[in-house]
Amino acid sequence: MSSTARHILELHRRGALRGALGLAALAALQPAMAPRALGQVAFRAYPFTLGVASGDPAPDGVVLWTRLAPEPLAPMGGLPHVAIEVRWEVAEDDRFTRIVAQGRQLARPELGFSVHAEVSGLQPAHGYFYRFMVGREVSRVGRTRTAPAAGATPERLRFVSAGCQHLEHGFFTAWRHVAAEELDFVYHSGDYLYEYRGVQPGEPSWGPTLRSHVGDEIHTIDNYRQRYAQYKTDPDLAAAHAAHPFIMAFDDHEVDNDWAGAISEEDGGRRFPIAVPPEVFALRKQAAFQAWWENMPLRRAQLPRGPEIIAYRELRFGQLARLHVLDTRSWRDDQPCGGSPAVQRACDELQRPDQQMLGQAQESWLMGNIAEGGATWQVLAQQVLMMPRDLGNSQINVDKWDGAPAARTRLLRGLAERGAANAVVLTGDSHNAWVADLRLENGPVVATEFGATSISSGGDGNEMAPAAEAVLRRNPHIHFFNNRRGYSLHEATARRMEVTQRVVPFVTRPDAPREDRGVFVVEAGRAGVQRG
Ligand code: FE
Ligand code: CA
Repeated sequence: MSSTARHILELHRRGALRGALGLAALAALQPAMAPRALGQVAFRAYPFTLGVASGDPAPDGVVLWTRLAPEPLAPMGGLPHVAIEVRWEVAEDDRFTRIVAQGRQLARPELGFSVHAEVSGLQPAHGYFYRFMVGREVSRVGRTRTAPAAGATPERLRFVSAGCQHLEHGFFTAWRHVAAEELDFVYHSGDYLYEYRGVQPGEPSWGPTLRSHVGDEIHTIDNYRQRYAQYKTDPDLAAAHAAHPFIMAFDDHEVDNDWAGAISEEDGGRRFPIAVPPEVFALRKQAAFQAWWENMPLRRAQLPRGPEIIAYRELRFGQLARLHVLDTRSWRDDQPCGGSPAVQRACDELQRPDQQMLGQAQESWLMGNIAEGGATWQVLAQQVLMMPRDLGNSQINVDKWDGAPAARTRLLRGLAERGAANAVVLTGDSHNAWVADLRLENGPVVATEFGATSISSGGDGNEMAPAAEAVLRRNPHIHFFNNRRGYSLHEATARRMEVTQRVVPFVTRPDAPREDRGVFVVEAGRAGVQRG
């Protein structure tokens, strides 16, 4: 008997197979030469508990994602360490009578039993249905949509920008409202999960605690996998994934709060005097990035190599928009001036001209894209606030672009010099909605930034924090602030981009309605945001 079969038998004897692979799988393994992959398997529990997703739409296809986990919170999802063959289908209709593409892929234990099917041969700007099958089990049906053809100018592009979904802080009702929108895609700016240990209800925390993270702060690949599994079993998040293709970025909490390049949050500074050495932090990054890739609808090109991942990439939507997904964590400098979020603007380190937020390779890649033009809208899909913010008493937050003003100036000047008409910046991270024009010092407006609020992080919130009122007074280039949870909805045509802040009035109770707050418009060919 092969060692794999023996392992399965052993699990079975101990009763650990409850909900995992059943006897049919064992039968398949009985021959002395056990197959390395299981095609015909029977599960004792539904294996598609983590839902389905699609992402990174191209004109001819999209990535389809799922991950097998009959016991979502158990190590390896409760499965033995054998590759399992999963089938997928793409159809014109949700009953799958007109199938247009199908295939098979191994869900490998090394990759957390995830499936990433890069489908091609589809029609541009077209909606499809998809599903996965393994053994007798069939997943829920997902909907997805391809991007417009390269030369086409679609009448409109409708997308959501959202992120920051702290599971403990609130229900993901905003995701349920996203699921009901009619969209081309969702841009997720990161903080898909939070790495912190579980807080028990009543225990002090920086937000309310409606439900608790399982376990301690996450460090190992199995920890990250389990945390993703806990988040992905949320029905509202699963519904949003099943409804639209997602374009994923990560921010800090997919790894470690406020990490920067090779440096952990625990950087030996004032707040964390005992530093995590970079070579040790690299191991955590490797685990975190692998789990991120496993759990997101990403292409093979984004598979991490050791502690590095190339998550910056471009998606094109015909002649209407180029979406440049940026990574503002991997190659940035450590937060300057001690790194605690608010520091004195007079700090010397802030004057360095060689500061990095993107790193040289990513920055020149982006500038190359911008120089090509080729679309009405140049959308920079990134993470932390780019707009300068004087927080009062000469304090600024150095985890944002305010921590690298020279990098921001270089970027904005680069956009201006390359004639980047109609540049729009998408931002997450701050857990508030912000709208601001970005300009070179005393110069013309170069871009408009739309900071989306959080899905749940921070709890119910309010319309206007008193401190924010003072920030708005002090920063006249900032046109809008809101401290409710939700997302921003963008509708772009060749003439204008209209942006609506969609919020939920509460997240600590379920079933919040959807409400609109600020509506803003950027007209093509006319820099600067206007009230809609
Ligand atoms: Fe966040
Ligand atoms: Ca963040």
